[in-house]
Amino acid sequence: MPVSGMPPYDGGNIFARILRGEIPANKVHEDEHALAFHDIAPQAPVHVLVIPKGRYVSVADFSAAASPEEMAGFWRAVGLVARQLGLEGQGYRVLTNMGEDAGQEVPHFHVHILGGKPLGAMLV
Ligand code: 5GP
Repeated sequence: MPVSGMPPYDGGNIFARILRGEIPANKVHEDEHALAFHDIAPQAPVHVLVIPKGRYVSVADFSAAASPEEMAGFWRAVGLVARQLGLEGQGYRVLTNMGEDAGQEVPHFHVHILGGKPLGAMLV
């Protein structure tokens, strides 16, 4: 349920299909609110995607329209997955791409967890 000005959610997107089990994914965690799986084209030794189970196009949509329970459940899963992957000691990066300028490819909100090596001081 995108807020006004947001593109409508497209239930045919690849992550929606992964959530429905139509496409396989190398899952690392699943709970009521979130699913985490390895990125198909990793950009770091550890590169995992975490997605909410709800139908949100982007972080803008999620932050505007998700319930407090969904938000808490999602972010709790992000921390839990990073811990589970053994990244907490050395550190890791969490990022999300929103829309065209950021190069968002898949229109289902997701965060990237990147780690497993020094990542440098990247902002853009
Ligand atoms: P975005 O650019 O939207 O932030 O990132 C989308 C990410 O999804 C990319 O890093 C890309 O490699 C990953 N991706 C795209 N298609 C698939 C897929 O079918 N399976 C998995 N596991 N990752 C995918």
